[in-house]
Amino acid sequence: MTDYLVKEGVQNLQHEGEKLISTHCCYCGMQCGMHIRLDEKTNKVVGVEPRYDWPVTLGKLCPKGVTAYQTIDHDERITKPLIKKNGQFVEATWEDALDLIEKNFKKLQKEHGKDALSVFGGVSMTNEKCYLVGKYARAVLGTRYVDYNGRFCMSSAAGGFMQTLGTDRGSTLPWPELEHTDCFFMAGSNTAECHPTSIQWLWKARDKGAKMIVADPRETPTARIADVHLDLRPGTDDTLASGMLHLLIKEGYVDEAYVNERCNNYEELKQAVEGFTPEFTSKITGIAVEKIVKAAHIFGRSPRSVVMFARGIEQQSKGVDNVRLYTSMALLRGQIGKFASGVATFTGQANGQGGREHGQKADALPGYRKISDPEAVKYVSSVWGIDPADMPKEGVSAYEMFDEIEEGRIRGMHVMCSNPAVSAPNLQHIWNGFNKLDFLVVSDFFMSETAEFADVILPVTSWAEDEGTTTNLEGRVIRIRKVKDPIGESKTDWQIMKAVAERMDKGHLFNYNNPREIFDEFRLASKGGKADYYGITYERIDQEDGVFWPCPSEDHPGTPTMFKQKFGTPDGKAILPIVNYRDSGEVPDEEYPLYLTTGRVVFHFLSGSQTRRTEFLMQQCPVPYAEMHPALASQYGLVNGGKVKLMTRRSEMELEVRLTKAIREDTVFVPYHWGKELAVNVLTNPALDPVSRMPEFKVCSVKMKKA
Ligand code: SF4
Repeated sequence: MTDYLVKEGVQNLQHEGEKLISTHCCYCGMQCGMHIRLDEKTNKVVGVEPRYDWPVTLGKLCPKGVTAYQTIDHDERITKPLIKKNGQFVEATWEDALDLIEKNFKKLQKEHGKDALSVFGGVSMTNEKCYLVGKYARAVLGTRYVDYNGRFCMSSAAGGFMQTLGTDRGSTLPWPELEHTDCFFMAGSNTAECHPTSIQWLWKARDKGAKMIVADPRETPTARIADVHLDLRPGTDDTLASGMLHLLIKEGYVDEAYVNERCNNYEELKQAVEGFTPEFTSKITGIAVEKIVKAAHIFGRSPRSVVMFARGIEQQSKGVDNVRLYTSMALLRGQIGKFASGVATFTGQANGQGGREHGQKADALPGYRKISDPEAVKYVSSVWGIDPADMPKEGVSAYEMFDEIEEGRIRGMHVMCSNPAVSAPNLQHIWNGFNKLDFLVVSDFFMSETAEFADVILPVTSWAEDEGTTTNLEGRVIRIRKVKDPIGESKTDWQIMKAVAERMDKGHLFNYNNPREIFDEFRLASKGGKADYYGITYERIDQEDGVFWPCPSEDHPGTPTMFKQKFGTPDGKAILPIVNYRDSGEVPDEEYPLYLTTGRVVFHFLSGSQTRRTEFLMQQCPVPYAEMHPALASQYGLVNGGKVKLMTRRSEMELEVRLTKAIREDTVFVPYHWGKELAVNVLTNPALDPVSRMPEFKVCSVKMKKA
């Protein structure tokens, strides 16, 4: 058991007979600080207390955070390895499960080559584990097929930031500075529901007079508190951002000195957005001209502004363009690299930031190195102790791995910390892929929809049964604490990878005894890369309330504010985008006349594997629904609480109707946290962004009828 320093004031939260262990929430990228309450007699987790001393969240927790502890000792935890026999899972020993994995992995690779195996990772794991996923796939299994669920979450933000700013750190400023911001331009982010503890910073700023502009097809709880709500058509963010850039230029709001000194392509951008007049922007987006002009004036006149966005603009086949164009608003105003100003994306999963930096992406090696760069391969190979010639080439993205299964190139898969049988688009294709695999291993702590397809399920620890680090949405590296010993026979993901490595005769590459040893290797592997963690130690994280990367040496203070002097591009200048307008993958037509968009609700997290097992959260939101405007519903004879059948080119499903005036009349919204017959992702479009390979969860065309 690891104890953590108990800071002043915490003693008041202590209950008799209990121990408080300080850690962070397991769910979103806010990584709210919390103390887990452990009953010392029973060794069971019995509750949670907020960490008032955590500088990012100041003692706030959302409904998911308050109840997260209930999953730790949950009755439905998988506590022993399970092997499928005659279609049923039966308990097995670790020895038997590993024997079976070894036999099948070796057989598949002998018959079909190294690339017959694949690894599907996730970013709710610690940095230590995310780092090992890439090493496990490439150095142990020797396959090029490795990707992760962040592909469905943060990949467009990553691609857009990389192309525009040269480095992908989700926020260019630390969160507590938001209090001093004068204007928030928020695009495709329902912050109040998806990252609720952020809202306190916005309220503090609002108390000082800050303005808020929210672009969203729905009048979400976030949009409801905005000064201007830009109620755009789904999939028209690129046009709205171009229209805003047009007005910033025309109305003289550009910080010319900053742009001349720090940006490339300004003249080209000017030309590209010349035609995006308020009238044209209004025609494409459906937003009233006056609102567009008002938003541009508020944003343009604010001395300190932050452009913030999330999956609403990123989960599109134009996601990277959207990120680049919205980021350019901050660049034209000269806001990036300054106090209380900049650009930020709200990271979805707990370690959505760190998990995308250290090599579980198909094209990446630790430290945000590219696997296509021979120097990067040489360096990482030297850290791993392998021959650079043995480093596999770039693989394919998460969704495209299922195309490879269909083609027969991938025959086996190891899924860790992920539930693509709910969270991927066009789910029938994913389900077919899982059924077609010769051998599937799933590491999970609940029986997820993905685990049901498995041949072997390996029980893993929850976030409270191991330690390590995550990187929150600011880019601050923080520590996750071990609260208690693992339940049943569960093992950590790194222990499981180590055990398989030994069976694959590569145990010498995974010779770790604890997360700290992994972290030290991973620091070295990241050294010199864009995401450089070399100077970060566990001790520094404790002493400094986290350390911001890049941090290249132990005497470096870390980097709370990014890009103060220069950007991460070769010449140090930001690259303004030149974007040609194109449609989304699908637009409404005669046959499918409406927009379908999907998203989250405050009571659930991602595929719902944990939150659907939390009684309070299920009481609040037990099933998905189709949210629509009463005017639209009446055209189809639909009433609140009635049933509707939604149909897209991929599939159809029935849902309960929920009426609200807080949505456009041409759009239907469905939350996506449920599986099987309640999974809206059977309907969504797998059109991929050409750069990020992000599927288009946020826009497709749909038709409907009364069910
Ligand atoms: Fe904080 Fe996110 Fe957890 Fe809610 S889900 S408590 S906002 S980390």
